[in-house]
Amino acid sequence: MNANFLQTPIVYLKGVGPNRAETLKSELGVETYQDLLNLFPNRYIDKTQYYKIGQLQRSNADVQIIGKIINIKTVEQKRGTRLVARFKDDTGEIELVWFRGQKWIRENLKLNLPYVIFGKCNWYNGTFSMPHPEMEPLKEHQQGTKVYMQPVYPSTEKLSNKGITNKVISKLMQQLFIEINGKFTESLSDKLLYELKLLNKSESMFNIHFPKNQELLAKAQFRLKFEELFYIQLQLIGKNVSRKKKIKGFPFLEVGEYFKDFYNNKLPFELTGAQKRVIKEIRSDLGSNAQMNRLLQGDVGSGKTIVAVMTMLLAIDNSFQACLMAPTEILANQHFQGISELLEGTEITCALLTGSVKKSARKPIHEQLENGELNILIGTHALLEDKVKYKNLGIAIIDEQHRFGVAQRSKLWHKNEFPPHILVMTATPIPRTLAMSLYGDLDISVIDELPPGRKPIKTVHRYDANRLKVFRFIRDEIEKGRQVYVVYPLIQESEAMDYKDLMDGYESIARDFPQPKYQISIVHGQMKPADKDYEMERFVKGDTQIMVATTVIEVGVNVPNASVMIIESAERFGLSQLHQLRGRVGRGADQSYCILMTGHKLSNDSKTRLETMVATNDGFEIAEVDLKLRGPGDIMGTQQSGLLNLKIADIVKDNDILKSARFYALQLLKEDPSLSKPENLIIRHMYAQLVKHKNIWTYIS
Ligand code: ADP
Ligand code: MG
Repeated sequence: MNANFLQTPIVYLKGVGPNRAETLKSELGVETYQDLLNLFPNRYIDKTQYYKIGQLQRSNADVQIIGKIINIKTVEQKRGTRLVARFKDDTGEIELVWFRGQKWIRENLKLNLPYVIFGKCNWYNGTFSMPHPEMEPLKEHQQGTKVYMQPVYPSTEKLSNKGITNKVISKLMQQLFIEINGKFTESLSDKLLYELKLLNKSESMFNIHFPKNQELLAKAQFRLKFEELFYIQLQLIGKNVSRKKKIKGFPFLEVGEYFKDFYNNKLPFELTGAQKRVIKEIRSDLGSNAQMNRLLQGDVGSGKTIVAVMTMLLAIDNSFQACLMAPTEILANQHFQGISELLEGTEITCALLTGSVKKSARKPIHEQLENGELNILIGTHALLEDKVKYKNLGIAIIDEQHRFGVAQRSKLWHKNEFPPHILVMTATPIPRTLAMSLYGDLDISVIDELPPGRKPIKTVHRYDANRLKVFRFIRDEIEKGRQVYVVYPLIQESEAMDYKDLMDGYESIARDFPQPKYQISIVHGQMKPADKDYEMERFVKGDTQIMVATTVIEVGVNVPNASVMIIESAERFGLSQLHQLRGRVGRGADQSYCILMTGHKLSNDSKTRLETMVATNDGFEIAEVDLKLRGPGDIMGTQQSGLLNLKIADIVKDNDILKSARFYALQLLKEDPSLSKPENLIIRHMYAQLVKHKNIWTYIS
């Protein structure tokens, strides 16, 4: 069918009219014929199968059964009565139950006559029972027109109030199919259809709305999901390729003295295989003419900092400057200290710029940055201020990417005549599937190996009632010379209450761990940066044994001697946050522990989160569970959720199809980058259509 025809406003469809058009638009976003066609059913009611009573499962699914009523009676209940019939086939018996319309039913139902019944079966009091079944004598059922699988479309209260029921939508769909003659222009190439044994477009569209049977429905779903994901991947990958062609980066041709000297003489440890591989990937990007735009994923403690340092050295070797931006002051400080130490004995200059650096101290930094004396600038958001101008920024490294918005990233980008290379480091592993869809236009490196000798952190879940035991454990660990974190939730909406929790907790700990034997640090969001730093510093130096804090310490902080992480009200934290917090320990050679404290009342999701934390240390595994619990939109924040506005595919459930779609999109662009081969014209055409009508990727800017 002509693509322009499908852009016809829905108001012109027979049976719609201005009122319905308005409601369809506001409730379902359906404005055109195409939109209606893309309104895919949520589920289907299967009337192709007949179940035997003996086969019924406690699945609460709709079932269709043939049998007879052998007895019917009225049962008194607290309020009024119910009508109960025993319904039997040759494999067993169930109950049919009515609460309304009992008189009519009693008068009209015939005993011992074969009926086809349809409805949900509940497991109740040791038998299956079906309330208010749809019923039809078998004879009539066999003579009537056959309904196969009945689609159930998305609905809202307003839709049903306005009489746009599921039946009405089905009718409109039928009408639309009549108008377009059931014909759809094919939108995938013959090659793909053949290789993947896909149903063609017309058959897929027909069977998604009017499935003839389960098998054809499954094929239709597969094909349409594949198509949706394929075109998204094609677009993302295509964008990446053209970005690399268009946006020139500064080529760092040399691996010079700074890098070599560091690698040969200053590395404090042997790099892991994964670190070496990632550095190689970065080097090859930087050596090309394209601008690097790379996401570096590595679990907490996997050693991303050293990769960042060596990347910066490559820039400096080629006479460029580098910057490293962190989300918190604490982390920026720590990076500055750590990196300064690593670079000791070199001529490389390095400065720290955060919100609390005084005006007088900023001036020389600004100047040295502009005249090129300063090689490396480390800091927070302060790096984005207009006053911060580089002589020649060659690479920007952003730590803990998930805390920065896209807008902020592009701000960095626009600081230069040419965009600097960008390396985004994240310790919250984004599930691979999600990363592929969201960042198809970024290159991704993964550090999937921890430095040697790390012992997995032992994680346990304890109820508040066992606090005394937990305190005893803390005492023992401190006795061994270890340090302990105690973390409280801080959620903005209830800041005052959280603050009280933190202070109460602090007081109770101070009582149980009295001075002078024990020293306690406290860090929270309402403190002045200087006080925070002071408290943090005492803990880093080992002057205090216990650090009571809110989540400000979540990101990046590195105190290898700390071996116990206690998370209070752990049920209030998300999985990725729990994992981040746990990552603050287990950084030294000692066995480390994470104790998740909660009350007794826990939601199912909370239980799953706690169980997952206890079961695994693997950030990727945790990220996958998180994705399942929260859904992709939540994980990436509202900003990017439009990205996941898929019509039919589901990023979590259709992971395999996504992988295959990506594989074929990559292959296609490799073989025919401009999509100009005759056999790919269909794809080229579809691609152009989609871009024009912004159909599935309104999100791509
Ligand atoms: P993250 O990836 O969480 O930023 P860091 O870069 O802070 O991790 O590294 C965590 C700790 O591991 C640091 O103390 C660092 O010195 C150490 N480390 C990093 N790489 C190695 C390695 N290859 N061998 C031994 N220790 C390492
Ligand atoms: Mg880090």
